[in-house]
Amino acid sequence: MLEKIQAQLAPTQTKLIAVSKTHPPERVRELYDRGQRIFGENKVQELVAKYEALPKDIEWHLIGHLQTNKVKYIAPFVACIQSVDSLKLLAEIDKQAAKHGRVIDCLLQFHIAEEETKFGLDETEAMVLLQSAEFQSFKNVRITGVMGMATFTDDQVQVQREFRHLRSIFEKLKAQYFAEQTSFKEISMGMSGDYLLAIAEGSTMVRVGTLLFGAR
Ligand SMILES: *Cc1c(COP(=O)(O)O)cnc(C)c1O
Repeated sequence: MLEKIQAQLAPTQTKLIAVSKTHPPERVRELYDRGQRIFGENKVQELVAKYEALPKDIEWHLIGHLQTNKVKYIAPFVACIQSVDSLKLLAEIDKQAAKHGRVIDCLLQFHIAEEETKFGLDETEAMVLLQSAEFQSFKNVRITGVMGMATFTDDQVQVQREFRHLRSIFEKLKAQYFAEQTSFKEISMGMSGDYLLAIAEGSTMVRVGTLLFGAR
């Protein structure tokens, strides 16, 4: 399955985040040995445990909700925090990254699904964040794009509409706030059930768990 998905992503150079949450380090190691280097986890404790158990050239992405009091545990090594949904959280990431002399890549997470439960900013909240003087003072975080989760539904038209919405937010933010920054380029969308549609809608990163590791 890994090789099949990699082949599907190759024409658009979309990156594959292998979502290993709930699966033991040995399963990560299997995909690592087949060449996969980017893995995603949604819980801090599990991310730290796997970081410690596995090769250090793995690029770890945090894709789940992050509490400010836990940023310190991942700041030394995390490659990208995909779930930034507040200025307060970003301030803490900046502070902890500075302690380690790092600049941490972050994605702004947007709420694009119909479901109430999913975390994320809306467009206005993101603009307020990006325009704030506090944000502009940060030196140890770099916003490299946006992330979103579509509604869990078989309705492909709805999922497509939500992906297009995320892409339009990306384009708008790019034009207004990041026009000169080539590093602002990521649209993280698409999971096991909808990654092909996500690629067609311009995703640059898909986050695939179940298809690679089996059911959780
Ligand atoms: C679990 C998870 C995924 C992967 O979901 P699958 O359906 O197993 O591919 C992707 N993104 C986020 C944010 C997740 O929590």
